[in-house]
Amino acid sequence: NSNTDFTLAIEDLTVSFDGFKAVDSLNFYLDQNELHVVIGPNGAGKTTVLDLICGKTKSTSGSIKFLNEELTKMSEHEIVRAGVGRKFQTPSIYENLTVLENLEISYPYGRTVAGSLMFKRSSEVLEKINQTASEIMLQDDLDTEAGLLSHGQKQWLEIGMLLIQDPQLLMLDEPVAGMSVKEREQTAELLNKISKGRSVLVIEHDMEFVERIAHKVTVLHQGKILAAGNMEEVQNDPKVIEVYLGH
Ligand code: ADP
Repeated sequence: NSNTDFTLAIEDLTVSFDGFKAVDSLNFYLDQNELHVVIGPNGAGKTTVLDLICGKTKSTSGSIKFLNEELTKMSEHEIVRAGVGRKFQTPSIYENLTVLENLEISYPYGRTVAGSLMFKRSSEVLEKINQTASEIMLQDDLDTEAGLLSHGQKQWLEIGMLLIQDPQLLMLDEPVAGMSVKEREQTAELLNKISKGRSVLVIEHDMEFVERIAHKVTVLHQGKILAAGNMEEVQNDPKVIEVYLGH
């Protein structure tokens, strides 16, 4: 396997803030169909890695190859267009628009509210909206104002707003924070479905949820990989136990 077979190949990636290396010579690979969870203590560099991939933060050195395009040279918009979707913790849905309208303004034909609402709804767009709404379990809420959805449904809507743009890589920061037990269960199923034909990268603190969803786990610590593998391998790694329980 050469590194060009991976959806995402990060090599020797470093970012320094005033000499402090938040991410330090990171090597990380992600396959298609892979749901990969990054864990690690606060300040480990997890958010910074996602910021580097989506172009929000510029690297000091190293390479991020996504479907063989070099992301470190691209703007945030170009990275979105290349097929990278990122969901932040705070939802950015439009509360006074319906579910359907929220999905529609995210459809890649227009990237502003005013711009996309001027387009006529084609049957092709409607079909994509319906398909996405089913995927995120909101098929019966298309005409519901987004502000009236439950906390969990709002999170799913935001995932739908990314899915409708057909990303090949989806990145999610603590996707089940604040969700009910039932919503967490449904989100686990949703993420499992989403990972088919795509790559999914998740930051998560809730170990029970990590165990439920992760195909692979990487533990970050002080900007470096402490351990990686399946959940069981990582949980039993003495270095991981030391970092989580040792102090
Ligand atoms: P995590 O998500 O694992 O909690 P972060 O990636 O948010 O960790 O942060 C890693 C380290 O980098 C922290 O020490 C943080 O203070 C530092 N850091 C992150 N972004 C910046 C920045 N823009 N300027 C300076 N320091 C930063």
